Amino acid sequence: MAEPGSTEPTTILRAANIEAGYGRVQVLWGAGLQVQDNQSVVLLGANGAGKTTLLKVIVGLLPAWRGAVHLGPNEVTTWRTDRRVRRGMAYMSEIGVFPGLSIEENLRVGGQFIERSTLRHRIEEVYADFPDLAQRRGALAGSLSGGQRKMLGIAKALASSPRLLVMDEPSAGLSPLFVGQVIEVLSRFRAAGLAMLIAEQNVAFLDLADRVFTLDGGRIRFDGSVAELQADDGLHRTYFGLA
Ligand code: ATP
Repeated sequence: MAEPGSTEPTTILRAANIEAGYGRVQVLWGAGLQVQDNQSVVLLGANGAGKTTLLKVIVGLLPAWRGAVHLGPNEVTTWRTDRRVRRGMAYMSEIGVFPGLSIEENLRVGGQFIERSTLRHRIEEVYADFPDLAQRRGALAGSLSGGQRKMLGIAKALASSPRLLVMDEPSAGLSPLFVGQVIEVLSRFRAAGLAMLIAEQNVAFLDLADRVFTLDGGRIRFDGSVAELQADDGLHRTYFGLA
C-alpha cells in the first residue's frame, strides 16, 4: 500500500507463482504478473503458451494448484468469479458475448452485479461510448459482424464499471481493419485510466502496453517495457519475426 502523499503506484492485481492445469496436465509452472492502477498490461504469448489458462485462474474460472491471486488488498485465490467481479474485475473471454441474446440483454448480463437502481444509468453510459450499439439495442448479438461483436464484448465487460478489465485475445477472429478499431477503442479507455490486462499473440496490441509480460511454455520469460522487449534480439525474433 502506498504511503500517504507518496506517488507509489497501487497494485490492483497480483498473481504469483501460479501452477495450474487440466486434469493431470500441468500448463502453468509458477507464472505470475502484476497490474498497477491505471496501467495497461499486455500478456504476450504464442498459441498454447497458457495465456487463457492464466487468465482463467486470475478470474476464478479455473483453480490454482499453487500460488496466489490478489485483487487490490484482498487475496482472492479461492473466491468465486462473481465475488471477484463484484470487487471490480471484469472478464472478456475470446467469445465475449451471448449470440442468442440481444445487445441490451448482453449489457444487462455484464452489469448483473450492479445495483438495480444504477444499472440503467450505467448501460446508458456504456451506450454513449459505443453509439453503434445504442442504435441497435434490440438486435441479436449473433447478427452482428465480428468487429461489432467484439465491441459488444468490451461494452458488456464495461457494464459492470470495472476497476480492472481482463481480456482474452480481443483480436481473435478479426480482420486487421477490425483489430485496428478494437485497439482504438481500448486506447480511449486506457487514456481514461482504466487498468487493463490483455492476453494477446498479436503484437499490434503492444501499442496499448505500459508493461509487457511474455508467457512461454507456462512460464513468464520477460517482464518489462515495449522498448525493452524490442531491444532484446531473441525476444524480438520470437515475437516480431525476422523482418
Ligand atoms: P491460444 O492462443 O491457443 O488460446 P493460450 O496461450 O491461451 O493459447 P491455453 O488455451 O491456456 O493457451 O492452453 C495452454 C495449454 O493447455 C495448451 O497445450 C492446451 O492444449 C491446453 N489446454 C487448454 N484447455 C484445455 C482443457 N480444457 N483440457 C486440457 N488441456 C487444455
